[in-house]
Amino acid sequence: MGVRENELEELKKCVERVISNCTLETCVAAMVRINIQRTKYKQIVCCFQFPDEYPKYPILTELKSHHISQKLLDGLVKICDEEAKKRLGKPQILQIIKLVSNFIDENPLCCCSEEITNIRKTWIEGSDELKLRQKTSSLLLKVNEGSYFIKYSIFIPENYPEKQVGIEAKESNFPAVFQRWFTAQSVEIARRCIEPPLKKKPKDPPFVLKPSMEPVVSFLIKEAHAFPRQTCKVCGEKAFPEDARNIHHDESSPKHVERILCGHIYHNACLDKYIKTPPFQGGKKCHTCGQQIFHEKWKITQKLAEERWAHKQAKQRELDEVVDFLS
Ligand SMILES: [Zn+2]
Ligand SMILES: [Zn+2]
Repeated sequence: MGVRENELEELKKCVERVISNCTLETCVAAMVRINIQRTKYKQIVCCFQFPDEYPKYPILTELKSHHISQKLLDGLVKICDEEAKKRLGKPQILQIIKLVSNFIDENPLCCCSEEITNIRKTWIEGSDELKLRQKTSSLLLKVNEGSYFIKYSIFIPENYPEKQVGIEAKESNFPAVFQRWFTAQSVEIARRCIEPPLKKKPKDPPFVLKPSMEPVVSFLIKEAHAFPRQTCKVCGEKAFPEDARNIHHDESSPKHVERILCGHIYHNACLDKYIKTPPFQGGKKCHTCGQQIFHEKWKITQKLAEERWAHKQAKQRELDEVVDFLS
């Protein structure tokens, strides 16, 4: 038997035993095909073709995967080719299979490589940072906007994307209420990726589970950039102070930043003045998006606002009369 035939026999005997979660799909002289699958998303098919005069020449390796990015696979093929060249004259396939198998185990973030590429291409701006931590299967995200920043650790679980990403707020200099909102929203976005809605409308398409990393990370990047750029539409100034050290943490301070339900922001005093000043007809609407303003602090009806306004005007008239009388 030649080297090639011996190698094929050897693969049939031992590859599925030596490499965990792998299947020998084809094993003939024209082609060897082995599927390594840890989870649905951590999966690579390795295809090998023997060149003429193998093993004097390196085996030809091709890698395929449904969920691992082509860029990553191309890089891995180069490493496989290097390995084959080190083993000229000897059987090469099992060694390469071991290498690919180890790669999957040592790089748990490979299951979201497409998402990582997308985030870098579409979302990351200027001095934002996205660092990969393969050892802990996590990503470290830092978003910078002017003097403001948020820092999050995003954990990718073993059976991702069936299980949602873990979200941990590390550090931030946004007002506390905004920090809490960033985290709570992120958790909710991740949950919606893997759980069907509680109240399903009849016309909704069937629920399809989707990876939660990119929705969460893109949300954090987008919002952390957007808030410090927004102006308060009542006074026309930036809602957040230019320097994050000057944030008004006291919620009753006039310049404290209030976020209303639609997501737009106002200074506390500006919003208060706007809500309590006529016209009240049809309720108060957001300057930016036209949606009804809703905020826990200002739960007043149109009728109550009108009454309060009338009362305030009456008081003012009384005061004016006194001033007139005295002058
Ligand atoms: Zn304002
Ligand atoms: Zn709005």
